Amino acid sequence: MNMIDLDFADRVALVTGAGSGIGEACASLLSSRGAGVLVADVDLESATRVAKAIGDSARPHQVDVTDPRACEAMVAAAVEAFGRLDVAVNNAGISGPRALTVDYPLDGWASVIAANLSGVFYSMRAEIPAMLGNGRGSIVNMASIMGSVGFARQVAYVAAKHGVVGMTKTAALEYARRGIRVNSVGPGFVQAPMLTQESAAGAAFLHPTCRLGRPEEVAELVAFLASDRASNTTGSYFLTDGGFTAQ
Ligand code: NAD
Repeated sequence: MNMIDLDFADRVALVTGAGSGIGEACASLLSSRGAGVLVADVDLESATRVAKAIGDSARPHQVDVTDPRACEAMVAAAVEAFGRLDVAVNNAGISGPRALTVDYPLDGWASVIAANLSGVFYSMRAEIPAMLGNGRGSIVNMASIMGSVGFARQVAYVAAKHGVVGMTKTAALEYARRGIRVNSVGPGFVQAPMLTQESAAGAAFLHPTCRLGRPEEVAELVAFLASDRASNTTGSYFLTDGGFTAQ
């Protein structure tokens, strides 16, 4: 293992939605590069499975990111388990219903905004004070291609992900001088439980690459942004989308 492989030696990371898919891949990659990782998910069973698979450097934690106090408790748990917080990957999210804007169910709107938009705000609100104490930190927020383009029948998801990109820029401006970087990532459709078999087949051909992304491909970009290798990168939004938004 060379030095680059150990970008996160002595660093502490938390990943929300780490019990599955992209979050699981992020937690695994960060830990393989030396980080202690809080594997946070609303589904404790999944978080425990992932943390066990990672080993001693990971701890499972149950969090519902739609609850601001639970987000504060999540940060406290990371600090208690590992001594501090250096990296946060705010990845938890749901896909929500699909319907035209006029027909979009109001409860679906509320739940998608709560998890995908407010959840990122509540997470950052809890994470930033812990990072300020160290004089450094890196936050990566999980947006989507739908953080920059519209998508029919997904009004809540698109609104939330555009919001994540905007919140990312704002927090980056606010804390740049105090050593905290904040960036967002926009995957195209990724092979993950969020996509059904049927929608996965159709979604692949929306991309010039004619395939879905893999969670590990998203995790590579997240790990780069979270690491000191991206030391002058903040307030930005990076796509990993198989060319989707180039069309
Ligand atoms: P996934 O369903 O595999 O994983 C999401 C995880 O988040 C699950 O483990 C779930 O339990 C957890 N979660 C859901 N609500 C939560 C809450 N309120 N509090 C805490 N944890 C919660 O999905 P995924 O595809 O890995 O998606 C992860 C992120 O990537 C999401 O933000 C999603 O919007 C984004 N994304 C996914 C795709 C895709 O095609 N899969 C594309 C672009 C962006």
